[in-house]
Amino acid sequence: MSDFIISHEVIIRLSAFFGTLGMMTLWELVLPRRVLTVSRVLRWMNNLGITFLNSFLLRIIFPTAAVGMTVFAQKHGWGLFNYCRIPYSSVVVISIVTMDFTIYLQHVMFHALPVFWRIHRMHHADLDIDVTTGTRFHPFEIILSMLIKFAVIITLGPPTIAVIVFEVVLNATSLFNHGNVRIRRGIDHVLRWFIVTPDMHRVHHSVEDNETNSNFGFNLSWWDRLLGTYRAQPRMGHKGMTIGLRGFRDTKRCTNLPGMLAIPFLSKITGYTIASHTWENPKEGH
Ligand SMILES: [Zn+2]
Ligand SMILES: [Zn+2]
Repeated sequence: MSDFIISHEVIIRLSAFFGTLGMMTLWELVLPRRVLTVSRVLRWMNNLGITFLNSFLLRIIFPTAAVGMTVFAQKHGWGLFNYCRIPYSSVVVISIVTMDFTIYLQHVMFHALPVFWRIHRMHHADLDIDVTTGTRFHPFEIILSMLIKFAVIITLGPPTIAVIVFEVVLNATSLFNHGNVRIRRGIDHVLRWFIVTPDMHRVHHSVEDNETNSNFGFNLSWWDRLLGTYRAQPRMGHKGMTIGLRGFRDTKRCTNLPGMLAIPFLSKITGYTIASHTWENPKEGH
């Protein structure tokens, strides 16, 4: 099984991406959660445009990507798993869960520090949220994510299969949890004890600061629950909430490829980042 996945990696990645994209698109057309505010054709052309640009850039900058780094680490005996005697199947599961936790921490960091927020806010500047928002990331964020992934791989020394499965699953769940789809409340309730559902992640795309700074998870919903960043629903409800960011309401800037690429360099950071939060000073002298 492992050998089959490793030798058919590219075809598995492409089928999972286009298969999930196709299924989510159909679901969005049949059972949409919200009425979209911007032309779907315009958003899709630009969101998918940046997705293909990112894939192209990654191929050039990191030709062998995460799998290449995993093989390199294994060859040199790097990583904690080389020093522990744990059954192979457990190593695969621990690697996948640890990488998911790292993605959660990375996402918090992108919201915490102004310089990273400049880059990550391009993802949040989408004026609607649907399946294509799930792949809409600034190239700088894609490159930084890959470098962070390299650091995790060197530290852990995970099996190649774990890295491939994690990347394929992360890609598919990102498309799923950005979907503009309706799921029955009862089913959503059960699902979100384990995974991040579209209703859960939509809260993260709210224009309200404290809703934007919640629900950072991408796969497992546990990290938000355990670390106190979980928020069940948006205050204004899923139909009444505004998607995007204050100060980024212009369609040209938010849904046009050159405008989107320029977002990290625009305007002063006001609000949103956790680091720029102003706390009330306790009264002096108690
Ligand atoms: Zn975010
Ligand atoms: Zn998102």
